[in-house]
Amino acid sequence: MCRALAADLPLVPAAVARLAADPNGGWLLQDERGTPVGRADQVVVAAGLASASLLLSRCPLPLRAARGQISLLPATGRNLPRVVLCGRAYLIPPTGGRATLGATYDRDDLDTQPRAVDHRRNLAALAATDPQLGALAAEFDPNALAGRAALRATTPDHLPLVGPVPDPATLGARFAALRRNARRRLDLCGASLPGLWLATGFGSRGLSYAPLAAELLADRMAGEVPPLPAELVAALDPARFWVRALQRGKEVTSWTGDSSPARAVR
Ligand SMILES: Cc1cc2nc3c(=O)[nH]c(=O)nc-3n(C[C@H](O)[C@H](O)[C@H](O)COP(=O)(O)OP(=O)(O)OC[C@H]3O[C@@H](n4cnc5c(N)ncnc54)[C@H](O)[C@@H]3O)c2cc1C
Repeated sequence: MCRALAADLPLVPAAVARLAADPNGGWLLQDERGTPVGRADQVVVAAGLASASLLLSRCPLPLRAARGQISLLPATGRNLPRVVLCGRAYLIPPTGGRATLGATYDRDDLDTQPRAVDHRRNLAALAATDPQLGALAAEFDPNALAGRAALRATTPDHLPLVGPVPDPATLGARFAALRRNARRRLDLCGASLPGLWLATGFGSRGLSYAPLAAELLADRMAGEVPPLPAELVAALDPARFWVRALQRGKEVTSWTGDSSPARAVR
């Protein structure tokens, strides 16, 4: 689907190691050796969990990994459901001869190799959904299944980070008034790094959220009316975690595993 959506775009495949401010304005995208692989006035960092390491020196992000594994069930000779089933697990009808069963959810586990033990957990979740599905699950040997594991990027409030990249240096000063009055309403304008945007933290819902997030970003970048009400735009704005910390009288320099501020200054 992603390939089809991007079919008309001029894509330059490259691993970006660093974002450097271009002295003439905009941003330089550099590879591991510092060689520029691209330059743009506006850059959207949409690198999933890796967005955190890409932006670390400019803005620590409250992202946390959640490993997920799917199991591929061979369909040949079996009467697998022909509709999507959702219960303790989900089962997607076969394509290419294999049905997809998923998915595990394990925080802070960074291993992306599929494991038999997780195929077993997926089959157990399928079995727990319904006795008939239990009989189906019993037909498969977890040690013989293929699958795929990857890392979700999650946020503390389960909403993605969609909007300008906050500038922690200016946020503290700009929102200083929140330390005295947490209810004070302040405009987020001017508290971000110019030309740098974020679309990440989609957790388990990237396929559903990403198109709307892209529309929201495009409108914000173009200065057009966003497709969402102001409260939702604010609820997705990456700066919300800094604002909340300041409302609690804290200053953020980094985030801990549970994404509370790692260094709090009163
Ligand atoms: C097992 C499993 C099942 C899931 N099931 C569903 C589901 O049913 N429905 C749903 O909506 N979501 C599901 N998700 C979640 C969904 O996959 C994510 O929400 C979605 O992929 C997030 O999209 P993204 O573009 O933000 O990040 P990613 O899909 O992680 O894409 C990030 C991209 O950035 C690239 N990248 C990373 N670092 C760099 C770099 N330094 N330079 C250049 N490129 C870089 C990566 O190569 C990758 O292409 C599932 C996730 C898992 C793990």
